[in-house]
Amino acid sequence: LARLRDRLARSGSPLGQKLLAVLSRDHLSEDDWDELEEVLLLADVGAGPTAELIESLRTQVRVHGIADPAVVRDMLRSELLKLVDPTLDRSLGTTGATAEDGSATPAVVLVVGVNGTGKTTTVGKLARVLVAEGSSVVLGAADTFRAAAADQLETWGSRVGVPTVRSDRDGADPAAVAFDAVRRGRRENSDVVLVDTAGRLQNKAGLMDELGKISRVITKEAPLTEVLLVLDATTGQNGLNQARVFGEVAGVTGIVLTKLDGTAKGGIVVAVQRELGVPVKLVGLGEGPDDLAPFDPEAFVDGLLG
Ligand code: GDP
Repeated sequence: LARLRDRLARSGSPLGQKLLAVLSRDHLSEDDWDELEEVLLLADVGAGPTAELIESLRTQVRVHGIADPAVVRDMLRSELLKLVDPTLDRSLGTTGATAEDGSATPAVVLVVGVNGTGKTTTVGKLARVLVAEGSSVVLGAADTFRAAAADQLETWGSRVGVPTVRSDRDGADPAAVAFDAVRRGRRENSDVVLVDTAGRLQNKAGLMDELGKISRVITKEAPLTEVLLVLDATTGQNGLNQARVFGEVAGVTGIVLTKLDGTAKGGIVVAVQRELGVPVKLVGLGEGPDDLAPFDPEAFVDGLLG
């Protein structure tokens, strides 16, 4: 967590600096409030939440006759924290279920999202975390659209020391690969099966078909434990539109926000949780194997404020 805070702080937190500039004035003028609003919008907090936050702050300032910007800053911190919502359950489901015949099934985590957002990398990092915690893991390379994707996943698999189930030909049926991966996990009494998928967004109906088929086929072997949507934090509003589509087609249970190391626009956390009604559970903080962390609301808001 200290690391998350450091990273966010080191990313320069222009938001924090700008807020500091506004809030170090003696008295908040109309222009200052506008500037505050602008800073939050620039950080991708979103129009609705920003308006609510400013309104709430202004009311508190008026009602309590607060003039000290340092107090406003503390109020801002607690309002931001409320928006991020520390009460949400952010634990990752890694416990399997019991099949009808009484045998145990592995936890199945389906990882979805647009190509390039960091799905494969996230699956690799997550496998590493799970293995370090003592879990046995199987990877499923259901992104059969690009052979390179399966190679990349396999590289992560061998680095971490877990098997990767894949197809040798391009364009193989992703649902079949996902099924094989879950079957193998079940046969080998694995704890968790992580399934990487392709994310072509050109065609919503096609995506819906593909993800729908993958989850239907998987659930013949074991129930889905988690559907994690991977979103690139640097893509702003565009990422939000993607989230909307996946939210509609994939029954998302949690969000992984990647590339937070490359942006000060962390406000997207607020926007995307609102949009999908599910929590951000994990964050990507770099390309390396250790750069995945549980999302911590307090550390996050502190980092945002700099
Ligand atoms: P996929 O197409 O969704 O599977 O995306 P990849 O896993 O191949 O990742 C795309 C690129 O983003 C790669 O170059 C990754 O190293 C990079 N990447 C993934 N996660 C992060 C992150 O948290 N931070 C940074 N800086 N880069 C990341």
